[in-house]
Formats: sequence, C-alpha cells, structure tokens
Amino acid sequence: MIKAVLFDMDGVLYDSMPAHIRAWSEVASRHNLLHNPHNFYLWEGRTGDSTINILFQDTYRRDASPEQLRSLYAEKAELFNRYNDGRIMSGVQEVLKLTRSLGLDLLIVTGSGQHSLLDTLEANFPGYFTKDKMVTSFDVLIGKPHPEPYLMGLRKAGVEASEAIVVENAPLGVQSAKAAGIFTIAVNTGPLPDEVLLDAGADRLLHNMAELAAELPALVGSLNSK
Ligand code: MG
Repeated sequence: MIKAVLFDMDGVLYDSMPAHIRAWSEVASRHNLLHNPHNFYLWEGRTGDSTINILFQDTYRRDASPEQLRSLYAEKAELFNRYNDGRIMSGVQEVLKLTRSLGLDLLIVTGSGQHSLLDTLEANFPGYFTKDKMVTSFDVLIGKPHPEPYLMGLRKAGVEASEAIVVENAPLGVQSAKAAGIFTIAVNTGPLPDEVLLDAGADRLLHNMAELAAELPALVGSLNSK
C-alpha cells in the first residue's frame, strides 16, 4: 500500500529554478570559474558544496577551500534571494490537497538550504509539511544523487520504499530516489529534454503539476493493486 509521497522542493513546489540558475551562473562568472549554465539544471539537487567543487575541479583541477565553499555559497544564496520571487508551481496546491485526500502522508526531500524558501513553506502550504517530516541540506552529508536523502525521507515517514512515491523534476533527484528503491514520478518543469529524466530512471514522466493531479489517483490505485 502506498502511504506517503516525498516531494522535492525546487522545480516541484516552487518555480525557483530560473533564479537558482541565474545566481549560480553569476557567481561562476564573477570568480572566473568555467561553466555552462545548462549544467546547473543537470546538477540540480546536489549540495552547494558539491556544485562549487565541480566548478573548481573543471577550472583548477582541485576542490575549493573550506573558506571558498562558505563564501561562494553565501554569495549564491544572496543572489538567489534577490532573483527569486517566491512563486509557487502552478497546480501544486491541487496536488497537495489531492495527496492528503488520498490519505497519504506528505514529506519534503530537498538538497536546498535556502531559508528564504524553507521558512515560507508553512505560509505557502499551510498544514502540509512539518519540520520532522522534512529532509534538507542541513540533514544530509552526501546529498543527491546518492540515495541518502530519500532513505532519510523514508525513515522520517516511517514507511518502506515500496510504500512511497517520489515527485522530482531533476535527473539527479530521480537517480537518488531510484537508488533508494522508490517509485519515481518525474515532472519535467524545466528546459531539459525528457530523455534526461527517463535515462535517470523515472518510472513515469509528466510535464506539470496539473497533469500530476489528474493522474495521481489512478497511479496510486495501480501501485496499490500490485
Ligand atoms: Mg528539484
């Protein structure tokens, strides 16, 4: 029986990816780090430290220092807060309402440590997510695409992998969820080709939250009948 839905945050609950990509690109440019803006979509879900280390490895063939990790991430967070307008993903309220009406528990599993979004979850989605049912960058050591965040999400939900569904928009998030053994719905809300999400292992591919609302009851029904 499906008992819980584990939602990613950026690009699923919040329409925040364009602001993340703009902020990362600007930090990389300022510090003369080799980068291709498209890659930030492919790397979505990684911890900030891991993203900064990739940029340093590509540019200097070494990791960033602890001080560089701290200061570049602070810069990125500051720019993100400037560019992000806090807009939630269209159709997401319907999905959350429906998930609850199906009797399922709701959790968030994100690589984000952005207080500007985490702290407004209750205001935007009142009553749906509690701190004890949330996995953020403050909880994990490794981060996506490692299964760690979703395994932690299962533990917090108190359910087995076979009793959960993940909703993700990012290829590394899909990999993380699949490595944790969870049925994963990819909602492709960004510019990446569908194949990237299917190659990452998505069990189902949709294109927006309205489609998810339309399909969720039947999907849960079919998983429950297995
Ligand atoms: Mg995401």
